Amino acid sequence: MKQRSSKARPARPKAGNKRRRDAHKDAEGRVHLTVHRDPASGNERVALRSPVFQEAWQNDVAAATANTAYAVLRGEPSVDGAIELARNAMAATSRLAAGLLARAPGGAVACRAGCDHCCYQSVGVTPPEALAIADHLKTTLSDAALARVTRRVSECRDRTRDLPSAERFSPDHPCPFLESGRCSIYEVRPLSCRGMNSLDAGECATRLRDPDARAAFLARGLGGRSFMEPIRAFQAISAGLQLGLSELFRLDMRPLDLTAAMHLLLTGPESLADAWIRGERPFEPARGADQGKDPGLGAPIEALGLARGRDP
Ligand code: SF4
Repeated sequence: MKQRSSKARPARPKAGNKRRRDAHKDAEGRVHLTVHRDPASGNERVALRSPVFQEAWQNDVAAATANTAYAVLRGEPSVDGAIELARNAMAATSRLAAGLLARAPGGAVACRAGCDHCCYQSVGVTPPEALAIADHLKTTLSDAALARVTRRVSECRDRTRDLPSAERFSPDHPCPFLESGRCSIYEVRPLSCRGMNSLDAGECATRLRDPDARAAFLARGLGGRSFMEPIRAFQAISAGLQLGLSELFRLDMRPLDLTAAMHLLLTGPESLADAWIRGERPFEPARGADQGKDPGLGAPIEALGLARGRDP
Protein backbone atom coordinates (compact mmCIF):
# COMPACT_ATOMS: atom_id res chain seq x y z
CA MET A 1 0.00 0.00 0.00
CA LYS A 2 1.23 3.46 -0.86
CA GLN A 3 2.27 5.59 2.12
CA ARG A 4 1.20 9.21 2.44
CA SER A 5 4.09 11.37 1.28
CA SER A 6 5.35 14.38 3.14
CA LYS A 7 3.53 16.66 0.67
CA ALA A 8 1.84 19.20 2.91
CA ARG A 9 -1.86 19.71 2.53
CA PRO A 10 -2.62 23.43 3.08
CA ALA A 11 -4.91 24.12 6.04
CA ARG A 12 -8.36 24.94 4.79
CA PRO A 13 -10.69 27.46 6.36
CA LYS A 14 -13.74 26.25 8.24
CA ALA A 15 -17.19 27.16 7.05
CA GLY A 16 -17.20 30.13 9.37
CA ASN A 17 -20.79 29.97 10.52
CA LYS A 18 -22.23 27.59 13.07
CA ARG A 19 -25.04 25.47 11.69
CA ARG A 20 -28.29 24.72 13.47
CA ARG A 21 -28.23 21.34 15.10
CA ASP A 22 -31.80 20.35 14.26
CA ALA A 23 -32.36 18.18 11.24
CA HIS A 24 -33.51 20.04 8.13
CA LYS A 25 -36.20 18.91 5.71
CA ASP A 26 -35.11 17.67 2.32
CA ALA A 27 -36.40 18.99 -1.02
CA GLU A 28 -39.53 16.83 -0.66
CA GLY A 29 -40.26 18.21 2.79
CA ARG A 30 -39.12 15.04 4.58
CA VAL A 31 -36.84 14.79 7.55
CA HIS A 32 -35.26 11.49 8.53
CA LEU A 33 -33.06 12.39 11.51
CA THR A 34 -33.66 13.79 14.95
CA VAL A 35 -31.16 14.95 17.59
CA HIS A 36 -31.87 13.87 21.20
CA ARG A 37 -30.25 15.49 24.19
CA ASP A 38 -29.88 13.38 27.34
CA PRO A 39 -30.98 15.77 30.12
CA ALA A 40 -28.75 14.07 32.69
CA SER A 41 -25.45 14.05 30.78
CA GLY A 42 -26.18 16.77 28.24
CA ASN A 43 -24.90 14.40 25.54
CA GLU A 44 -26.58 14.58 22.15
CA ARG A 45 -27.40 11.59 20.00
CA VAL A 46 -28.66 11.41 16.43
CA ALA A 47 -31.41 8.89 15.65
CA LEU A 48 -33.59 7.98 12.69
CA ARG A 49 -37.15 9.26 13.10
CA SER A 50 -38.39 6.14 11.33
CA PRO A 51 -36.68 3.26 9.54
CA VAL A 52 -35.34 3.94 6.04
CA PHE A 53 -34.37 0.31 5.41
CA GLN A 54 -36.29 -2.91 5.91
CA GLU A 55 -33.39 -4.56 7.72
CA ALA A 56 -33.05 -3.35 11.34
CA TRP A 57 -29.24 -3.68 11.29
CA GLN A 58 -29.03 -1.35 8.30
CA ASN A 59 -31.01 1.29 10.20
CA ASP A 60 -28.62 0.90 13.16
CA VAL A 61 -25.59 1.31 10.87
CA ALA A 62 -27.10 4.36 9.13
CA ALA A 63 -27.88 6.01 12.49
CA ALA A 64 -24.37 5.24 13.82
CA THR A 65 -22.83 6.79 10.69
CA ALA A 66 -25.00 9.91 11.04
CA ASN A 67 -23.91 10.12 14.69
CA THR A 68 -20.26 10.00 13.68
CA ALA A 69 -20.90 12.73 11.11
CA TYR A 70 -22.53 14.88 13.77
CA ALA A 71 -19.67 14.34 16.21
CA VAL A 72 -16.96 15.13 13.66
CA LEU A 73 -18.57 18.17 12.01
CA ARG A 74 -20.57 19.72 14.86
CA GLY A 75 -19.84 23.38 15.41
CA GLU A 76 -18.05 24.41 12.25
CA PRO A 77 -18.05 21.99 9.32
CA SER A 78 -14.75 21.89 7.46
CA VAL A 79 -13.43 20.25 4.31
CA ASP A 80 -10.85 18.37 6.38
CA GLY A 81 -13.65 17.12 8.65
CA ALA A 82 -15.59 15.90 5.60
CA ILE A 83 -12.49 14.08 4.33
CA GLU A 84 -12.00 12.49 7.74
CA LEU A 85 -15.63 11.35 7.68
CA ALA A 86 -15.27 9.85 4.21
CA ARG A 87 -12.15 7.98 5.35
CA ASN A 88 -14.07 6.71 8.40
CA ALA A 89 -16.95 5.59 6.21
CA MET A 90 -14.58 3.85 3.78
CA ALA A 91 -12.86 1.95 6.60
CA ALA A 92 -16.18 1.05 8.23
CA THR A 93 -17.63 -0.22 4.93
CA SER A 94 -14.59 -2.40 4.29
CA ARG A 95 -14.65 -3.78 7.85
CA LEU A 96 -18.35 -4.55 7.71
CA ALA A 97 -18.18 -5.98 4.19
CA ALA A 98 -15.22 -8.20 5.13
CA GLY A 99 -17.07 -9.54 8.18
CA LEU A 100 -20.18 -10.25 6.11
CA LEU A 101 -18.23 -11.82 3.25
CA ALA A 102 -16.56 -14.14 5.76
CA ARG A 103 -20.01 -15.62 6.43
CA ALA A 104 -20.54 -16.53 2.78
CA PRO A 105 -20.15 -20.24 1.95
CA GLY A 106 -16.51 -21.05 1.16
CA GLY A 107 -15.57 -20.09 -2.39
CA ALA A 108 -19.01 -18.63 -3.13
CA VAL A 109 -17.80 -15.07 -3.70
CA ALA A 110 -15.97 -14.95 -7.02
CA CYS A 111 -14.17 -11.59 -6.70
CA ARG A 112 -10.38 -11.83 -6.84
CA ALA A 113 -7.49 -9.35 -7.18
CA GLY A 114 -7.04 -8.54 -10.86
CA CYS A 115 -10.71 -9.29 -11.71
CA ASP A 116 -12.03 -5.97 -13.03
CA HIS A 117 -15.33 -6.67 -14.82
CA CYS A 118 -17.23 -4.27 -12.52
CA CYS A 119 -14.87 -1.34 -13.20
CA TYR A 120 -16.44 -0.39 -16.56
CA GLN A 121 -19.42 1.70 -15.54
CA SER A 122 -20.47 4.97 -13.97
CA VAL A 123 -19.49 4.86 -10.29
CA GLY A 124 -21.51 6.90 -7.82
CA VAL A 125 -19.77 8.88 -5.09
CA THR A 126 -20.78 11.49 -2.54
CA PRO A 127 -18.85 14.78 -2.34
CA PRO A 128 -16.86 13.74 0.78
CA GLU A 129 -15.67 10.57 -0.99
CA ALA A 130 -14.61 12.60 -4.02
CA LEU A 131 -12.78 15.07 -1.76
CA ALA A 132 -10.99 12.23 0.05
CA ILE A 133 -9.87 10.70 -3.27
CA ALA A 134 -8.61 14.07 -4.56
CA ASP A 135 -6.81 14.69 -1.27
CA HIS A 136 -5.19 11.24 -1.47
CA LEU A 137 -3.98 11.85 -5.02
CA LYS A 138 -2.65 15.33 -4.27
CA THR A 139 -0.82 14.28 -1.11
CA THR A 140 0.64 10.95 -2.24
CA LEU A 141 1.52 11.36 -5.94
CA SER A 142 4.50 13.15 -7.43
CA ASP A 143 3.68 16.13 -9.64
CA ALA A 144 4.37 14.06 -12.76
CA ALA A 145 2.18 11.16 -11.58
CA LEU A 146 -0.62 13.55 -10.62
CA ALA A 147 -0.43 15.16 -14.06
CA ARG A 148 -0.72 11.67 -15.65
CA VAL A 149 -3.78 10.78 -13.56
CA THR A 150 -5.39 14.16 -14.28
CA ARG A 151 -4.86 13.61 -18.00
CA ARG A 152 -6.45 10.15 -17.83
CA VAL A 153 -9.44 11.48 -15.86
CA SER A 154 -9.88 14.35 -18.34
CA GLU A 155 -9.75 11.98 -21.33
CA CYS A 156 -12.33 9.70 -19.71
CA ARG A 157 -14.51 12.70 -18.88
CA ASP A 158 -14.35 13.88 -22.53
CA ARG A 159 -15.36 10.40 -23.79
CA THR A 160 -18.22 9.90 -21.32
CA ARG A 161 -19.52 13.41 -20.63
CA ASP A 162 -22.95 13.01 -22.25
CA LEU A 163 -23.41 9.27 -21.86
CA PRO A 164 -26.22 7.99 -19.66
CA SER A 165 -25.17 5.34 -17.15
CA ALA A 166 -26.53 2.53 -19.34
CA GLU A 167 -24.12 3.47 -22.14
CA ARG A 168 -21.23 3.94 -19.72
CA PHE A 169 -21.48 0.23 -18.84
CA SER A 170 -19.17 -0.90 -21.62
CA PRO A 171 -15.70 -2.40 -22.16
CA ASP A 172 -14.97 0.86 -24.04
CA HIS A 173 -15.22 2.93 -20.86
CA PRO A 174 -12.95 1.66 -18.08
CA CYS A 175 -12.80 3.63 -14.85
CA PRO A 176 -9.90 6.10 -15.18
CA PHE A 177 -8.41 4.67 -11.98
CA LEU A 178 -8.19 1.14 -13.41
CA GLU A 179 -4.55 0.35 -14.19
CA SER A 180 -3.48 -3.05 -15.54
CA GLY A 181 -6.62 -4.64 -14.13
CA ARG A 182 -6.17 -3.17 -10.65
CA CYS A 183 -7.61 -0.22 -8.77
CA SER A 184 -4.95 2.48 -8.47
CA ILE A 185 -6.87 4.21 -5.66
CA TYR A 186 -7.65 1.03 -3.70
CA GLU A 187 -6.97 2.72 -0.33
CA VAL A 188 -9.60 5.40 -1.01
CA ARG A 189 -11.88 3.62 -3.50
CA PRO A 190 -15.54 4.68 -3.29
CA LEU A 191 -17.94 3.09 -0.81
CA SER A 192 -19.90 1.43 -3.60
CA CYS A 193 -16.76 -0.34 -4.89
CA ARG A 194 -16.23 -1.78 -1.38
CA GLY A 195 -19.69 -3.34 -1.18
CA MET A 196 -19.81 -4.67 -4.74
CA ASN A 197 -19.24 -8.42 -5.15
CA SER A 198 -20.27 -11.26 -7.40
CA LEU A 199 -21.06 -14.94 -7.02
CA ASP A 200 -20.24 -15.61 -10.65
CA ALA A 201 -17.23 -14.00 -12.37
CA GLY A 202 -18.18 -15.70 -15.65
CA GLU A 203 -21.55 -13.97 -15.56
CA CYS A 204 -19.80 -10.62 -14.94
CA ALA A 205 -17.47 -11.17 -17.90
CA THR A 206 -20.29 -12.17 -20.24
CA ARG A 207 -22.45 -9.28 -19.11
CA LEU A 208 -19.68 -6.79 -19.86
CA ARG A 209 -18.28 -8.26 -23.09
CA ASP A 210 -21.35 -9.76 -24.83
CA PRO A 211 -23.58 -6.96 -26.21
CA ASP A 212 -26.75 -9.11 -26.04
CA ALA A 213 -26.10 -10.17 -22.44
CA ARG A 214 -25.32 -6.56 -21.57
CA ALA A 215 -28.54 -5.31 -23.16
CA ALA A 216 -30.55 -7.96 -21.27
CA PHE A 217 -28.86 -7.00 -18.00
CA LEU A 218 -29.51 -3.30 -18.54
CA ALA A 219 -33.15 -3.98 -19.36
CA ARG A 220 -33.47 -5.77 -15.99
CA GLY A 221 -31.61 -3.10 -13.97
CA LEU A 222 -29.18 -4.17 -11.26
CA GLY A 223 -29.60 -7.91 -11.03
CA GLY A 224 -26.37 -9.85 -11.20
CA ARG A 225 -25.80 -12.74 -8.80
CA SER A 226 -24.29 -11.07 -5.74
CA PHE A 227 -23.98 -11.67 -2.02
CA MET A 228 -26.33 -8.89 -0.94
CA GLU A 229 -25.20 -8.28 2.64
CA PRO A 230 -22.03 -6.28 1.80
CA ILE A 231 -24.05 -4.22 -0.69
CA ARG A 232 -26.61 -3.52 2.06
CA ALA A 233 -23.76 -2.48 4.36
CA PHE A 234 -22.50 0.05 1.79
CA GLN A 235 -26.03 1.36 1.31
CA ALA A 236 -26.54 1.83 5.06
CA ILE A 237 -23.24 3.66 5.59
CA SER A 238 -23.72 5.82 2.53
CA ALA A 239 -27.28 6.67 3.61
CA GLY A 240 -26.10 7.63 7.12
CA LEU A 241 -23.38 9.84 5.65
CA GLN A 242 -25.78 11.47 3.20
CA LEU A 243 -28.51 12.06 5.75
CA GLY A 244 -26.11 13.32 8.42
CA LEU A 245 -24.44 15.89 6.21
CA SER A 246 -27.52 17.01 4.31
CA GLU A 247 -30.02 17.22 7.18
CA LEU A 248 -27.74 18.33 10.02
CA PHE A 249 -25.37 20.57 8.07
CA ARG A 250 -27.35 21.41 4.91
CA LEU A 251 -24.63 20.15 2.59
CA ASP A 252 -25.45 18.95 -0.91
CA MET A 253 -24.96 15.17 -0.71
CA ARG A 254 -26.55 14.03 -3.95
CA PRO A 255 -24.51 11.29 -5.63
CA LEU A 256 -22.01 12.31 -8.31
CA ASP A 257 -20.36 10.49 -11.18
CA LEU A 258 -16.86 9.58 -10.00
CA THR A 259 -15.08 10.57 -13.22
CA ALA A 260 -16.94 13.89 -13.49
CA ALA A 261 -16.37 14.74 -9.82
CA MET A 262 -12.65 13.95 -10.03
CA HIS A 263 -12.35 15.99 -13.21
CA LEU A 264 -13.84 18.97 -11.39
CA LEU A 265 -11.59 18.53 -8.35
CA LEU A 266 -8.38 17.94 -10.31
CA THR A 267 -8.84 20.66 -12.93
CA GLY A 268 -11.21 23.14 -11.25
CA PRO A 269 -10.47 25.91 -8.76
CA GLU A 270 -9.22 25.04 -5.25
CA SER A 271 -12.14 27.07 -3.91
CA LEU A 272 -14.63 24.42 -5.05
CA ALA A 273 -14.35 22.39 -1.86
CA ASP A 274 -14.81 25.47 0.30
CA ALA A 275 -17.89 26.48 -1.70
CA TRP A 276 -19.39 23.04 -1.03
CA ILE A 277 -18.73 23.23 2.71
CA ARG A 278 -20.43 26.65 2.74
CA GLY A 279 -23.59 24.91 1.50
CA GLU A 280 -23.30 25.84 -2.19
CA ARG A 281 -23.68 23.37 -5.07
CA PRO A 282 -20.40 23.49 -7.01
CA PHE A 283 -20.65 19.77 -7.85
CA GLU A 284 -23.80 20.19 -9.94
CA PRO A 285 -21.86 19.61 -13.25
CA ALA A 286 -20.68 16.24 -11.87
CA ARG A 287 -24.16 14.80 -11.35
CA GLY A 288 -23.80 12.67 -14.48
CA ALA A 289 -25.74 12.68 -17.72
CA ASP A 290 -28.78 10.99 -16.16
CA GLN A 291 -28.36 12.29 -12.62
CA GLY A 292 -27.26 8.87 -11.37
CA LYS A 293 -30.72 7.33 -11.73
CA ASP A 294 -29.83 4.51 -14.08
CA PRO A 295 -27.58 1.48 -13.55
CA GLY A 296 -24.29 2.37 -12.00
CA LEU A 297 -22.91 1.76 -8.58
CA GLY A 298 -24.58 4.85 -7.08
CA ALA A 299 -28.06 3.87 -8.16
CA PRO A 300 -29.21 2.10 -4.98
CA ILE A 301 -28.63 5.18 -2.85
CA GLU A 302 -30.24 7.56 -5.32
CA ALA A 303 -33.20 5.21 -5.40
CA LEU A 304 -33.73 5.77 -1.68
CA GLY A 305 -34.41 9.40 -2.53
CA LEU A 306 -32.22 10.61 0.33
CA ALA A 307 -30.00 13.60 0.80
CA ARG A 308 -31.09 15.96 -1.90
CA GLY A 309 -29.80 18.87 0.14
CA ARG A 310 -30.95 22.44 0.21
CA ASP A 311 -32.97 23.93 -2.62
CA PRO A 312 -30.99 26.52 -4.55
S1 SF4 B 1 -12.51 3.18 -8.24
FE1 SF4 B 1 -11.23 1.35 -8.37
S2 SF4 B 1 -12.58 -0.37 -7.77
FE2 SF4 B 1 -13.89 1.42 -8.22
S3 SF4 B 1 -14.48 1.19 -10.40
FE3 SF4 B 1 -12.61 2.48 -10.36
S4 SF4 B 1 -10.89 1.04 -10.59
FE4 SF4 B 1 -12.70 -0.16 -10.03
